[in-house]
Amino acid sequence: MKTGIHPEYMLCNVHCSCGHTFVTRATKPELRVDLCSECHPFYTGKQKLVDTGGRVERFQRRQAATAAAQKAHAAQKAASAAKKVGGPAKKK
Ligand SMILES: [Zn+2]
Repeated sequence: MKTGIHPEYMLCNVHCSCGHTFVTRATKPELRVDLCSECHPFYTGKQKLVDTGGRVERFQRRQAATAAAQKAHAAQKAASAAKKVGGPAKKK
């Protein structure tokens, strides 16, 4: 192994955002992570949303807006269809 070019391999304390900590070895003495084997959905089997910048929230808001718009459109269509059947023919 060539000297002077390799980083030092040391004990590393890993802190997860879920509160779990463990010790491993790395080239840094401390690591802070968002997910670990204690809280990652793959290991827990539970569904968890890992949201970045409110993207999930924004999607849900858009979905709700679209559903409301479709409902309004359907109501309008039904109303105009009822008018056509019941009322007199439109003059041009
Ligand atoms: Zn974790």
